[in-house]
Amino acid sequence: MSDYLQGKRLQKIIKMLRLPIPTPVLLKRQDGAIQEDELRGYKLLIGRSRGGLIAEPLEAWGKAQGMEINTNLNRYKYNALLWDATGVETVEDLVQGYDFFHEYIRRTMKGGRILIVGKEAGAKSAASLQATVQALEGFSRALAKEVGGKGITCQLILLDASVAEKEKELGHKFYPSLHFLLSKRSAFISGQVFRLSKAVKPLVQVPIAGALKDKVALVTGGAQGIGAAAARTLAREGASVIVLDIPQAVDKAATVAKEIGGKTLLLDITDKEAPDKVVRYIQEHFEGIDILVNNAGITRDRTIAKMSKEYWRQALNVNLDATIRLTEALIANGLRDRGRVIGLSSISGIAGNFGQTNYSASKAGMIGYMEALAKQLAGRQITANAIAPGFIETKMTANLPFFVKEGGRRLSNLKQGGLPQDVAEGICFLASPGGAGMTGQTLRICGGSMIGA
Ligand code: NAD
Repeated sequence: MSDYLQGKRLQKIIKMLRLPIPTPVLLKRQDGAIQEDELRGYKLLIGRSRGGLIAEPLEAWGKAQGMEINTNLNRYKYNALLWDATGVETVEDLVQGYDFFHEYIRRTMKGGRILIVGKEAGAKSAASLQATVQALEGFSRALAKEVGGKGITCQLILLDASVAEKEKELGHKFYPSLHFLLSKRSAFISGQVFRLSKAVKPLVQVPIAGALKDKVALVTGGAQGIGAAAARTLAREGASVIVLDIPQAVDKAATVAKEIGGKTLLLDITDKEAPDKVVRYIQEHFEGIDILVNNAGITRDRTIAKMSKEYWRQALNVNLDATIRLTEALIANGLRDRGRVIGLSSISGIAGNFGQTNYSASKAGMIGYMEALAKQLAGRQITANAIAPGFIETKMTANLPFFVKEGGRRLSNLKQGGLPQDVAEGICFLASPGGAGMTGQTLRICGGSMIGA
């Protein structure tokens, strides 16, 4: 029985025995390919701070998507509540957020969404403005904790001034991000801050459905777990996918590749010749790649006193060193302009974890690497972001002791673990043209976990 199903059985037992432990809400997830009109019929309630910039264009955009906006205030349960906080400039202004959510938060339906949209303060702005904008972060994270038990998620989107003020930038960066955050694809993301920057230039039109048509993606460690889910999800949206994994994983890799009409590339990324081999393979089969998902990773857990140097080296080598060498080779030869680099980190890389000095070091290193790449590659219109999953039900976490596993699940706002698909949807969003607003960031897909908060 899969771990996920075991978790569901446990939920049943908790319910039957009426134990005083909350049973998590079953999250609604994306089923099938993304549809252009996926938000049709959504009920959205928009609150606006005085001087808010986006409420009006947003309303027009929402109506064009077929959404019902601000209707039946006293009767409806809403799919989403959105507070336009782009007008918030003083501590006193924050009370408008209190007023909106105090009045309406109970009108969010189970599994719904709460979004706060603010404007970045800018490093040179008054300290009091910076404090006020940062306050939105604490506000949204605390809200995320209050509503998580109902499967409701809450995020803060911070717009760079140019994104907030220009219609074209809103269309290129804000609306596609909003699409993602309102949709079922973001079911396991909560308590996060999305910073939409001006680093990558606007496109004329941003597709939502079939957004990865004509794109080529390379997923390392794509034979199972999160990597396999990422390969499937990228292919679902139209990408041609190369599933890279170690030769011992041949059967699983071939199964995934066959299912999605992709290709298999079998090699160990820690081999000295691996970067050259990958570059040659791409040259032989494609004109280049657009999406690189650095997902291959291992754990070699022991406390530092008991850890062998071999264990230390193995984790650092696969998770970071080999990943950097492969990425550098592809940046020089194979990764096309306007491309996407995504690196799998972990909340252990943010908070550190007992018995994981090697793993935490490698995953923190991945965050630093993506931040540095984002700056280095902005000129080529390439984005680079890290994804930090929390507790995800895969082979890697199946090996943990039962109570550690159950603890890992319940420490999230949503009181459950995530599925590989949840991480894959985040990868797919960042990989898509609509992910252009995000670069140099770490997207946590952890259900709002207490760890690393
Ligand atoms: P997994 O063990 O199920 O899959 C990892 C894949 O990487 C395997 O197919 C493996 O064969 C491949 N791989 C390992 N070493 C390789 C090498 N040297 N060359 C090529 N391929 C190699 O792991 P997962 O749970 O799917 O995790 C995927 C990524 O997400 C990892 O980087 C992991 O650290 C990260 N992550 C996972 C979780 C979680 O809860 N599962 C949480 C945080 C971060």
